[in-house]
Amino acid sequence: MELAQEEEIRRIQLELEHMLSQIEREIPIYLFTKPGVNDVFSEAARQGIRFFRQLTDRVKLREFDLAHETAGQLGVAHSPTIVFDPDNYNIRWLGAPMGEEAKIFLEALMRIGTQSSGLNEQAAAVLERIEAPRNVKVFVSPSCPYCPQQALNALKAVVGKPDLISLEIIDIQANPDLADQYSAHSVPQAFSDDILIAMGAQTEELFMASLDKLEQQTVFIPETDAEEVTTDLVIIGGGPAGLSAGIYASRSGLDTVVLEKGVLGGQVALTPLVENYPGMKQVGGKTLVDIMVTHALEYVNIFPGEEVIDIQPGEPTLVQTSRRKFYTKSVLLTTGASHRHLGVPGENRYSGRGVSYCATCDGPLFKDRKVLMVGGGNSAVTEALHLKNMGVDVTIIHRRDQLKAQKFLADKLPENGIDIMFNHRVVSIEGNGIVEKAVLEDLVSGQTTEIEVNGVFMAIGYEPATGLAGKLGLELTDDGYIKHDNYRTKIPGIYVAGDVAGGYKQIVTATGQGSEAAMTIFEDIINPYWKN
Ligand SMILES: Cc1cc2nc3c(=O)[nH]c(=O)nc-3n(C[C@H](O)[C@H](O)[C@H](O)COP(=O)(O)OP(=O)(O)OC[C@H]3O[C@@H](n4cnc5c(N)ncnc54)[C@H](O)[C@@H]3O)c2cc1C
Repeated sequence: MELAQEEEIRRIQLELEHMLSQIEREIPIYLFTKPGVNDVFSEAARQGIRFFRQLTDRVKLREFDLAHETAGQLGVAHSPTIVFDPDNYNIRWLGAPMGEEAKIFLEALMRIGTQSSGLNEQAAAVLERIEAPRNVKVFVSPSCPYCPQQALNALKAVVGKPDLISLEIIDIQANPDLADQYSAHSVPQAFSDDILIAMGAQTEELFMASLDKLEQQTVFIPETDAEEVTTDLVIIGGGPAGLSAGIYASRSGLDTVVLEKGVLGGQVALTPLVENYPGMKQVGGKTLVDIMVTHALEYVNIFPGEEVIDIQPGEPTLVQTSRRKFYTKSVLLTTGASHRHLGVPGENRYSGRGVSYCATCDGPLFKDRKVLMVGGGNSAVTEALHLKNMGVDVTIIHRRDQLKAQKFLADKLPENGIDIMFNHRVVSIEGNGIVEKAVLEDLVSGQTTEIEVNGVFMAIGYEPATGLAGKLGLELTDDGYIKHDNYRTKIPGIYVAGDVAGGYKQIVTATGQGSEAAMTIFEDIINPYWKN
């Protein structure tokens, strides 16, 4: 070995010794092996632990055969398995600290030896919220540079909550059977209680949030304990209308918050694929939501999981949520709408797999295919014409003997060669992974027939979320949407935009309305029309 290399190794050793000198207590480590099984990994594990033992006398190694009763007592079944400090923690390593994984081993010693999770304040606050046990598995490999970060996140969670959280770090090369069982063919992957909670490395806040919610979180929104918040604008609803309004209002100089009772992104979060948002030929609904939320967070405070239950207009207006009070100069209602469902077997199962509520959105996917359009009003007829225009073979199914749609629209159906099956209803939707047929009932004869189709579109109405508007005594249109004039409702300081305001129910129209409403609000705050 050359002198320069020897000096470098010595320098690294000294650095490690210095780091490990911070360990305050003994760390018992048990190594379980079974001769003839994964011998290379067993030897690497042994050598790895011995290496660290040379650097600190705090590491106490005990070796066991997998057949030893201690393995049974601890529930260890794989060779090699390293168990860290079993009296205080439930941390196992199925494999050996080789390659990139050596960093994880060092961190494990540091966290356990100092009994400190080392979590930042926000991540620690999320971890604190977890009240039920979590059995975490992190799949790693020696050649994966991203794995140490994710394994370290999990280690920090265990050290922060040793009574509730257990951890298995699983090397996929030493344990291909487990990798197959969990389909963990890319690393790192993290599971909690056998639910996939993260693919790839995350920040520690996002890991803790994913562990808390038991699903992968991609945007972290810090929480606040404030009981009262004073602001210029409260936006109710974190869908595209609310998020766009937030960006425009904040950029105009208004102090703005967005309150969302459920999933950020509103209906977009439920949309598998969006193909008509300008600039993005195809984008997953969840991805589009992440992009919008990340952008909005640059400007506004978002309060997720916060339902508005009451609004008392005044100067200031009081907005009461399930968690706190907001005092504000103005309120924008972007509470959205939801499609009415038919409620027949197969409808939910095939939603996004042939069942659609939006011809504008999904129509192009059915070009040269056969679909049903359920409904008989203006929407059903307009959407059927839209589908026909896109090259879709469409038949309208209506339960009455005549359409509710306006005559000039209905007349266009025969002109465009669209068949109508009057007095029929869909009884069920069937298929094999995707829609293949619908069962129809003739409401006059009572007979049922099967019809082969690739899709079933529904246009049986919307349910706008007007509960708060009702409490405020706001007027609704005949279709049930909130009446407005340039986004102003009849109550000064209360505005409305997006699907709940009626019109075309699309992401672009919602974002357009949200931004326009924000500009109106800005103008009114500068120059209140009701005071002139
Ligand atoms: C399955 C599906 C597929 C679609 N596909 C497309 C598509 O491909 N392209 C397209 O352009 N459009 C599509 N749309 C329509 C589009 O998603 C909507 O038009 C758009 O999301 C409307 O935005 P919004 O902000 O007005 O309302 P929403 O997206 O409905 O958001 C309203 C939000 O307000 C929240 N909220 C309601 N009440 C309260 C309260 N009291 N307190 C706090 N929060 C509250 C709700 O939880 C919700 O998150 C689709 C819709 C669905 C359902």
